[in-house]
Amino acid sequence: MASALTEKLSRLVKEMRGQARITEGNVADMLREVRMALLEADVALPVVRDFVARVKEKALGQEVMGSLSPGQALVGIVNRELAATMGQGVSDINLAAQPPAVILMAGLQGAGKTTTTAKLAKLLIEKRKKKVLTVSGDVYRPAAIEQLKTVTKQAGAEWFPSTPEQKPADIARAALDYARKHYFDVLLVDTAGRLAIDEALMREIKDLHAILNPVETLFVVDAMQGQDAVNTAKAFSDALPLTGIVLTKTDGDSRGGAALSVRHITGAPIKFAGTSEKIDGLEVFDAERHAGRVLG
Ligand code: GDP
Repeated sequence: MASALTEKLSRLVKEMRGQARITEGNVADMLREVRMALLEADVALPVVRDFVARVKEKALGQEVMGSLSPGQALVGIVNRELAATMGQGVSDINLAAQPPAVILMAGLQGAGKTTTTAKLAKLLIEKRKKKVLTVSGDVYRPAAIEQLKTVTKQAGAEWFPSTPEQKPADIARAALDYARKHYFDVLLVDTAGRLAIDEALMREIKDLHAILNPVETLFVVDAMQGQDAVNTAKAFSDALPLTGIVLTKTDGDSRGGAALSVRHITGAPIKFAGTSEKIDGLEVFDAERHAGRVLG
């Protein structure tokens, strides 16, 4: 893998050619570079510390094979560990439930919940041939309900109406009832997001979770969020048993370090990546590809 970090590490180990092992002595400078690369990618500091410690433990004493230098070997270890941390190979949406399989979308306002709800609806219709219903529990922003209606139509799914006068819990019950009666396979529930974590919001989404008993509770997070992603992820993961993460806006400039932080804090796999504003801009998350990007 050619990357800025790889080049830096290669320079560091030029003078170490012929050393066959990664040792405390030759690894310190290299780990410093790895640490810098992760911090530059906006991975949260405690996550970086933990990660570097794990890499060090894995790397120390490793024989360096054949033509690899210790620097190249270390980059390999870092890449594999990054991909493993971000859940390589774990993905796809779980629909194993008595229909309708409910998918609850959680996250801050602006993270991309509504857009992702519609993208997911489209994907489930086209790739899994499912009959999909969406509903919005965002009673605080009438525009959000309308937005879901519009994008649901684009996705070719059905939209269940809700209004700002209703309670989110009542909307959830009504949508679930409708989905059952009309034999929907999947009910996607978009929820209210605030600009910051607040207790009332967390209570509300916990109630929704209890009513809906979702098979997937997806935490939608903006890849550009950087250091704050840790606090957001912690708050949502304390409140809800998250089953997966959707990392949105991976088409942006950021190195996407949030992926590592969020995965670390929640323990939930990153299932999808948002790759554009368009309705088909959702891909199964590729941890190996993302690892290369985080390292830069
Ligand atoms: P919500 O408040 O969490 O429901 O967020 P929205 O779904 O309204 O999305 C907020 C903004 O982010 C909108 O302008 C979306 O078009 C945009 N957006 C969402 N996902 C992506 C993505 O993967 N890539 C890009 N470029 N924009 C996205």
